[in-house]
Amino acid sequence: MFTIPLLLLSVVPQVFGCADHQNFMRPGHNEKRQLNISNTGRTPTYWAYEASFNWGKLSPDYHLCQDGTQQSPIALGLNQGLSLYHQPDFSGYPSEVLGNYYNWGYGPAFTFYREPGNYTSLPYMTVDGERMYMTGWHIHSPADHTVGGDRSKAEIHYVHYTADGHERAVVAIRLDPGREDSPFFAQFPPAIHFNDTSAIQNLDMDPMQAIREVSNFSEFWTYKGSLTSPPCKEGLQWFLARNILFTSRLQMQDILGASTFSARAEQEVWGHEVNV
Ligand SMILES: [Zn+2]
Repeated sequence: MFTIPLLLLSVVPQVFGCADHQNFMRPGHNEKRQLNISNTGRTPTYWAYEASFNWGKLSPDYHLCQDGTQQSPIALGLNQGLSLYHQPDFSGYPSEVLGNYYNWGYGPAFTFYREPGNYTSLPYMTVDGERMYMTGWHIHSPADHTVGGDRSKAEIHYVHYTADGHERAVVAIRLDPGREDSPFFAQFPPAIHFNDTSAIQNLDMDPMQAIREVSNFSEFWTYKGSLTSPPCKEGLQWFLARNILFTSRLQMQDILGASTFSARAEQEVWGHEVNV
């Protein structure tokens, strides 16, 4: 059985919900380009990835974790085919986007700078004519989604919102160690450890680089899913690249050394409409 004393959580508030990963930043007081993560959306949690089967028991607010019909993640495979429709167009991703590099409590993460309440200044992808605005990314380890029964070492989530601030889509890419440096991860300094959630580094990054490293996301699965943490809200469209993004061995050691277990169990439900 998994329990965390509430007292402990009150003094160690760095265990945050993945949730919509909706923390955003405001300009800091002292340095011109120093941005700080506000508390918005980063509330202490009393659930654990290690006990994701029981989330529905913890709070009535989490009922979708138990009785939802489009819960994420799920097992995928080539026997389901690849999507013939809904190709994301990433031409709304600028090559340099300013934001904060930090650790979301489970692994490396990045949140783009925006004014509170403003989503339309963010990088966007376009799917079937709809713009979806990317607030940032975070990494889970091991990967949330399996493909053909194989689970990668990690998975990066590009989180997208509607113009009016609702979670809309996640672009997911599996990560595994390979032979050479990934130019995407070469953009970043060494990962900040999961115990160091107050550390923040400002930098510019190119969100398109990871897309390039998986053949421009030309082959993918898509399905109707949910947040992978309580309250397990549904209505998100998931996109998982068929290709794996390969890092060097040292890059993967850096990622995994800063990460802790954050994969929800695969969901045995039926409403996902894979590739529909
Ligand atoms: Zn996630």
